[in-house]
Amino acid sequence: NTTIMLFTRDLRVHDNPALAAACASGTVVPIFVWDTAILDGPFAVPNRLHFIGEALTDLRASLRARGGDLIVRTGDPATEVGRIAEATGARAVHLADDRSTHARRRLAALRRLPLAVHAHPGTTVVPPGALTPAGGDHYRVFTPYWRAWTAAGRRPIAGTPDKVLLPPGLSPGEIKVPGGPGSPGRAPGGEGAARDRLEAWLSGGAARYDDDRDRLAVPGTSMLSAALRFGCVSPVEVADRAEDHPGFVRQLAWRDFHYQVAAAFPDLATRDYRDREEPWRDDPEALAAWCEGRTGHPIVDAGMRQLLHEGFMHNRARMITASFLTRNLRIDWRHGYRHFNSLLTDGDVANNAGNWQWTAGTGNNTSPNRVMNPLRQAARFDPDGSYVRRWIPEIAALEQPYLHEPWRTPAALRRNLSYPPPIVDPDDLKRPGAFTQ
Ligand code: FAD
Repeated sequence: NTTIMLFTRDLRVHDNPALAAACASGTVVPIFVWDTAILDGPFAVPNRLHFIGEALTDLRASLRARGGDLIVRTGDPATEVGRIAEATGARAVHLADDRSTHARRRLAALRRLPLAVHAHPGTTVVPPGALTPAGGDHYRVFTPYWRAWTAAGRRPIAGTPDKVLLPPGLSPGEIKVPGGPGSPGRAPGGEGAARDRLEAWLSGGAARYDDDRDRLAVPGTSMLSAALRFGCVSPVEVADRAEDHPGFVRQLAWRDFHYQVAAAFPDLATRDYRDREEPWRDDPEALAAWCEGRTGHPIVDAGMRQLLHEGFMHNRARMITASFLTRNLRIDWRHGYRHFNSLLTDGDVANNAGNWQWTAGTGNNTSPNRVMNPLRQAARFDPDGSYVRRWIPEIAALEQPYLHEPWRTPAALRRNLSYPPPIVDPDDLKRPGAFTQ
């Protein structure tokens, strides 16, 4: 009795309900397919592809240590699963349930095969759709969702298989990462790295999360987002083990919240749910300066350069840079969403678009007046300027208060700075929405 385990974004052996179920029924073919529909589109982003490649190498080693292997193919997942089923006589396929538009299409294609298809929970703590408000199909506002989420029971942790019995005769296939190099400072992918990170976090920074999470220069957050994005660690395991840190667990609920919004609104990344009074401005030069970290506003540029260098940006910096693009430059949030998508290792439609809508004030669960003054944010969250100094070496020698406001540097000194003048008049930062060329 052979079954197929189709890995997608659950690249782990611990607490993987789909893998545990597949292994329980006899011989199993674990397979990952580099999906050409993704490789041909805007989601084929080097930082994520390399992260996946490392996760596959790690997963293959774990499966080999258990007597199995990871079969790697490139093409259409349903076609490849169909081929493996024909070659091995498999009659069922197990995979993690996922509600993105692409995942739903993939599931529908699998269901057209002559196989039993089992979709297991595994990508969120609470599956999208499991919690519904009275009279609705999903929550639009976070606070009531959080209340229901904390009261909801969680699935039990799935056992880690000791043995994976692979049927003979399948060539494993090479793990070859398609596409170019990623950001130089990207964190490594894989279950081993994710579990090490989780242990270090729980025994270290987690206890100070509420105090440190907004401090830009401090490693005060878990840095688990990319591992969660590709399922190198289980969100249920993280939530269970972090129960002494409710401020941190709440962020996992935000992640689930955005997934259930995206499941209800597949057009989350394109549509505005709240009308704006003013039209967006079309300004390719300002957009390029923002993307490249040369707006002349140090706290904004520091965040954008962290993103370029690491494929990651601190959450507080994501909020500051997103507010600057949409509120100060008044450029359409979808440009920001696309740029973030092209670099973030943790980037995904639900959390990226959901957070952009939240910051731009166009989402359901949002205040249209959520605006951040970058100077006040810099004073509060980078008070000694360490974050700006780390990412903008051109001005690292400046003392406060000039570091966050280099335009105030005495003229004689300013001439020697190879850093651009501010693209938004500093006086207008206090009047959000105002913009001067
Ligand atoms: P921690 O603070 O340690 O939080 C733990 C986990 O909770 C994170 O790993 C993440 O999975 C989840 N989480 C934390 N904050 C949020 C949030 N606001 N919304 C949803 N989940 C959250 N996060 C993504 O995972 N993918 C994205 O594409 C993404 N795009 C964003 C775009 C913008 C404009 C903004 C403002 C935020 C975005 N975030 C996104 C949310 C957040 O910035 C990151 O999850 C966080 O910075 C990751 O760092 P961490 O793992 O150290 O987080």
